[in-house]
This record gives sequence, C-alpha cells and structure tokens, in this order.
Amino acid sequence: MTGLKPDLGKDKMKPVSKKRSAVSDKNTILRIENLHKVFDQNSPHPVEAVKGVSFNVQENQLTVLLGPSGCGKSTVLRMIAGLEMPSNGQVIHGDQMVDGPSQKRGMVFQSYTSFEWLTVSKNIEYGMKLNKVDAAIRKERVEYYLELVGLKDFRNAYPKQLSGGMKQRVAIARTLANEPELLLMDEPFGALDAETRWNMQELLISIAQSTKTTIILVTHDLGEALFLGDRIIFFSKRPANIISDMSMSFKKDKRFSRKEDILSEKGYKRAEQELMRLMRSQAHG
Ligand code: ADP
Ligand code: MG
Repeated sequence: MTGLKPDLGKDKMKPVSKKRSAVSDKNTILRIENLHKVFDQNSPHPVEAVKGVSFNVQENQLTVLLGPSGCGKSTVLRMIAGLEMPSNGQVIHGDQMVDGPSQKRGMVFQSYTSFEWLTVSKNIEYGMKLNKVDAAIRKERVEYYLELVGLKDFRNAYPKQLSGGMKQRVAIARTLANEPELLLMDEPFGALDAETRWNMQELLISIAQSTKTTIILVTHDLGEALFLGDRIIFFSKRPANIISDMSMSFKKDKRFSRKEDILSEKGYKRAEQELMRLMRSQAHG
C-alpha cells in the first residue's frame, strides 16, 4: 500500500520533555504512569475508580485489559484515549502526553457507532473527510478496509440493513481508516451472539497481523482474552490496580488464526485456570 499514512495534523497532544523521551524504550509506544481516577471528587460520595495503574505497551502488541465488571477497565481505556483526564498520573503516547482525543488513537465501543444515513463506504470515508485526507487516498483506503473486514459486497448498504457483526465491522473499518497508531476497543464484541463473536475475534487477529496496529482491548470474557491477548493485564475489583500481567508464554509469540487451535496448546488450560482463580479472588461480596 502506498500513500496511506499522511500526516493528518490537528493532533491534541502536548510534547513532554526531551529528558523523558530519551529514556523511553525503543519499541515502547505507550507509557501509563501511576494513573489514578476519582469521579465526583468534590461530592459527598467520590468514586475511586482507578488506583496507581502503571504499564508500558510495545508497538504491535495486542494487550487485553481484563477484570471484574465495574472495576475500572473502561475508565483506564478512556484515559488512554484522552476521553477522560486522570486525577493523578499520566499517559504518554510516543513522546507526547495525552491531554485529549486524537486520531492517532482510534476507539471502538460496544454499541455500534455508524451513521445510519450514510452507506457503508461513506461511513468508512467519513472520518478521513473530516481530517481532510486527499480524495484519492480516501478511495484507496475505503477499498482496502472494505476488503479487510469482508464488506466489499455491502459497500452501498445502509447500517440498518446489516447484522450486528457487520455493523461492528463497519465501526472497526471506519476507525482503522484513519490509520491510528493505537486501536482502543471497549468490549467491542460484547453485544454479539457467540458465533459472530468468535468470527469477529478471528477477524481481529487477522487485522492485527496485516495492519500491525497496536491494540488495547477491554473485555471481561476469559476465552476472548486468552485467544486475543499477546498479554493480559488483570485488574483488581474497584479501584482498579494491576494484580497480574500475564505474558502468555504458552503462545510462544505466536498468534492463532483459528480459535480451536489454541485450545490444545500446552499451557492453555493452566492460563485459563489462573484467570478463573484471579476472577474468583476479585469477585464482589
Ligand atoms: P468497567 O469498565 O470495569 O466495568 P468502569 O470503568 O466503567 O468499569 O467504572 C468503574 C467505576 O467508576 C464504576 O463504579 C462506575 O460506576 C464509575 N464511573 C465510571 N464512569 C463514571 C462517571 N463518568 N462518573 C461517575 N462514576 C463513574
Ligand atoms: Mg466497561
């Protein structure tokens, strides 16, 4: 592919001091440093959602954030996206401190976020138009991402004519078309039936392989985490702090394109048991 990485400008990030970037690891794309978040801080009932979360993310890595419902996963992801500001700590993307949203960080949510009045193609093109991407590059990218998510035959369909899985493919293609450095996904397959979910997980692996995008995905589904993650970060119950950072060594740095293939890997069961143990240890009540 040529010409698919124009400088889209309009970025809302502040540079951090040179001293900081000089010490950063070469392949580290994201540094999350001592994040805290308290909602309604000045009210009689402040909610402490995140407490002292620190981790680095390497380029091309697929990191899964896992933890019990309500523990603070989405809050961590939203702070990475720049949609929520930390009460303390910071997020550094590249060599810049995150202080707001940017097209360098694309977000996919659980609920379908396509424009109902635009066709699939126009939905994929929309963000690029806003970002004033050249028409020829827009056309090229629409084709590429339609193909990538398997929607070539539905280019002229409207979202209401599509199944849930297809709508979510549009949302993913739309986000990827801006060619973000980071793809942030908050329970992206949570609303889908089991079979569609499984197909979408396999699709995400193929997207990760072909686009080399760095992905951070929130889920509370253990099987999804084990299949997708190059690494799983497990959060405690609220306020979220990291209680395990699993390197998934049983995968031996491989990604599996078919979900059933991972089940017979030596070490899979043990990793699954470990996650279940962690989940039980953090159960409410
Ligand atoms: P998870 O994604 O792990 O289910 P969230 O990050 O959504 O959890 O929420 C963590 C905690 O923060 C919850 O108790 C939730 O009610 C609270 N919370 C999230 N967003 C807000 C907000 N905007 N205002 C007040 N409380 C919030
Ligand atoms: Mg959530």
